[in-house]
Amino acid sequence: MKPAMTLPGAPYLARQAGDLRLDGHALAELASRFGTPLYVYSRAAMRDAFMAYERALAGRRHLVCYAMKANSSLAVLQTFAQAGAGFDIVSGGELARVLAAGGDASRVVFSGVGKTRAEMRQALQAGVRCFNVESETELDTLNEEALGLGCRAPVSLRVNPDVDAGTHPYISTGLKGNKFGIAHAHAVAAYRHAAALPGLHVVGIDCHIGSQITQLAPYLDALDRLLDLVEQVEAAGVPIYHVDVGGGLGITYTDETPPAATALVQAVLRKLDARGHGHREVLFEPGRSLVGNAGVLVTEVLVLKPGAADAGGKNFCVVDAAMNDLLRPALYEAWMGIEPCVQREGPCSTWDVVGPVCESSDWLGRGRELAVERGDKLAVLSAGAYGMAMASNYNTRPRAAEVMVDGPRVHLIREREDARTLFAGERLL
Ligand SMILES: *Cc1c(COP(=O)(O)O)cnc(C)c1O
Repeated sequence: MKPAMTLPGAPYLARQAGDLRLDGHALAELASRFGTPLYVYSRAAMRDAFMAYERALAGRRHLVCYAMKANSSLAVLQTFAQAGAGFDIVSGGELARVLAAGGDASRVVFSGVGKTRAEMRQALQAGVRCFNVESETELDTLNEEALGLGCRAPVSLRVNPDVDAGTHPYISTGLKGNKFGIAHAHAVAAYRHAAALPGLHVVGIDCHIGSQITQLAPYLDALDRLLDLVEQVEAAGVPIYHVDVGGGLGITYTDETPPAATALVQAVLRKLDARGHGHREVLFEPGRSLVGNAGVLVTEVLVLKPGAADAGGKNFCVVDAAMNDLLRPALYEAWMGIEPCVQREGPCSTWDVVGPVCESSDWLGRGRELAVERGDKLAVLSAGAYGMAMASNYNTRPRAAEVMVDGPRVHLIREREDARTLFAGERLL
């Protein structure tokens, strides 16, 4: 595969005189300074991605909640908190991170199909803005916990609008048969149920139909389905204040052409206006589109194994980053750009770029045209979302370090893990 004409992540990611740079910082130099594998993020890229949503929403009552599961490193959360973002969380651990990063619980929405009672209490005590509830059972449990604490839980029901987001089956969440949300046909009954519980206060409605969505139509279909329900629920005497259209906007990994955040917001606002719902507060929960193209994973070439005929003739480029550092290729067969940090003259060969982990699914890119030598640094592009956040310690591999560049400054935002800390909590018999 030829390198793309424009790199995903441009203009922050650019090649200048052969050097791949993120916001002006040469990635090869950062790799020498901090070691590899190394995640590098641009703070400006994150802030600008967030501001695109904000600007498009100016003049409207709104809240953009960063879906922090995409990248929950504290400095990333701090960047968004300082820019005025709310947060979409899916666990008590994520709530603790928001608070540790200086975020405000009153701007947090709590999503997730299986919240524990302890998580509910933690979120009630912190004073989250809203629970996005996914079942009638959860309504009952949350009601009990709120009454136990002498408070009322603000709730929105996550409705499954039964629309096809046209994305990978593992990241499609808005179809019948997904585990997520309350079936559209049961939603009015669920709202009546919620409104009758003394420990709950109905405040909104939400959906989230999938991830890496590259079209506007599924959003608008889902919003129509949501607004149909809002009208029915309010006719049944239960007021609904906010409409939360979820996250899921796609990014460019290779040749995808997702709508810009501005286009998504404008289309949503137009639909709200056209249907007479323009007065409602509107929430978005973007994850990937705020951070995906703001980061790269830098790795070093450890071994080149040119293909032997009995190995199917494949050439393997073994690097020091693996599926434990970046799971997307192994999990979703995701294609992510791979670029040398310093361009080499000379002929390219076709390489499968793989990690050292003992699994055949441990690959980062297949069939890539690269001119590489042992010791070269490669950057896996578009790695800011669902990269570090999904990293594990499989094969007792310490997790990578993370760096954030911010104008002329370079911040180490996470130290490289040390193998001893990986088993520090374990006990011999
Ligand atoms: C994952 C998730 C998001 C964010 O999805 P992206 O594709 O990263 O934008 C938003 N809301 C909910 C409920 C989610 O589970």
